[in-house]
Amino acid sequence: MPEAISHMLEPHSALYLDTRPHVITEGSGIEVRDEDGQSFVDGVAGLWSVTLGYSEPRLVEAATRQMNKLPFYGSFNHRTNDVALALAADLVDIAPIPMGKVFFGNSGSDANDSAIKFARYYHWSQGRPERRKIISHSCGYHGTTLAAGSATGLPHIHHGFGLDTGDFLSAHCPNPLHPSSRGMSESEQVDWLMEDFENLIEEAGPETVAAFISEPILGAGGLIIPPAGYFARLQEILARHDILFIADEVITGYGRTGSMFATTEFGLSPDIITTAKGLSSSYLPISATLVGERVSAALAEGSKQIGTFGHGFTYSGHPVPAAVARETLAIVRERDIPGHVRDVAPHLARGLDKFRGSEAVRDVRGHGLLGGVEFDAAAVGREPGQLGQAVLRAAKERGLLLRAMGDTVVFAPPLIITGEQIDDLMERFTAAYHDVVDSPRLRQAA
Ligand code: PMP
Repeated sequence: MPEAISHMLEPHSALYLDTRPHVITEGSGIEVRDEDGQSFVDGVAGLWSVTLGYSEPRLVEAATRQMNKLPFYGSFNHRTNDVALALAADLVDIAPIPMGKVFFGNSGSDANDSAIKFARYYHWSQGRPERRKIISHSCGYHGTTLAAGSATGLPHIHHGFGLDTGDFLSAHCPNPLHPSSRGMSESEQVDWLMEDFENLIEEAGPETVAAFISEPILGAGGLIIPPAGYFARLQEILARHDILFIADEVITGYGRTGSMFATTEFGLSPDIITTAKGLSSSYLPISATLVGERVSAALAEGSKQIGTFGHGFTYSGHPVPAAVARETLAIVRERDIPGHVRDVAPHLARGLDKFRGSEAVRDVRGHGLLGGVEFDAAAVGREPGQLGQAVLRAAKERGLLLRAMGDTVVFAPPLIITGEQIDDLMERFTAAYHDVVDSPRLRQAA
């Protein structure tokens, strides 16, 4: 087998590059090591998700204990396992607003597919089957399965895949830097976005819209933080038209923003909350869709008409990831991880602030342990997207792994990171930035 070629159909990758991917083989704390023995600070916690770092023994023990006791029992036909049931109770207990029930899946995508189906089922059970349409943001990311991919606005998720566009509507990205809102105050931007949103609903016909889905902070769309007051106004419109609100907390849930759920910080009152990633610190795949009382009552009512609720996966409530999730939540609470995030977040904010006004930087933004630096590639004579990639390559040379969305480099380190470790991470990033921007050779390569 030739060494250079990957036989894996690699997700979200440039498949035409027939070379060996960067292969990670070990992890410890906030660092990972690759097959060549080189260590890296992981600035993005795997995929925004390894919140407790790579060597939490309690999670390994929780998985092993459960594997020995009961390695699997599913949850169909009113038979389940004790761990899934206990985790559902834990989640209802910590939910940011009163929630009725919890549905388990395996990924953020399936959590959002489930939420979308539940919203439609809700309306159907209330005698309104025509309410099928889903509104999401043009810069929103909700996954890549058929429904979650259809709700995802990013063009490369759509191209070639024949996703459903008919029932999915795209609202303006609430990006304060959007050219159309340049020069506006925050409240003027919100007015402008609301007008656009109302028009979208009117054109679609409010009686055909089931739900609106949004991340509180839009992650993979470029770390977009909507202007102040955005969600409060939006929720008024949704309530007026009886459109359900799905908050996608797949990135923000379980501490990343400095509270257990961003729903609390942003004053949201969603009908459904979707979570995954940090629920198990990604040690095993599991997602949880938290369903509000009103919706869960309607799901029960609908299932009465049919005789059963026709949704669920073999691995819904799998006891091993559920045991890891219970242990993760216990650790997050015992160690007050959200409080820790609030304590160390100023280190990230200070590191990011130093980039304000830099030659090739258009914007800097952050919240909790989420940060982003948006480069202005044109300012150094480069094509859009190229500067972000060049800085990523330079950061890797300096032992730091990051991700870029276009020209926005994002930071989402493990939540256990210390202030000093953040300072070190930002020093490496700063050096990488100067490697690219100050070096004629690397500038050229960018
Ligand atoms: N929602 C959000 C906000 C996400 O960031 C992601 C993944 N990055 C997803 C959903 C999809 O999750 P998954 O990749 O586990 O399907």
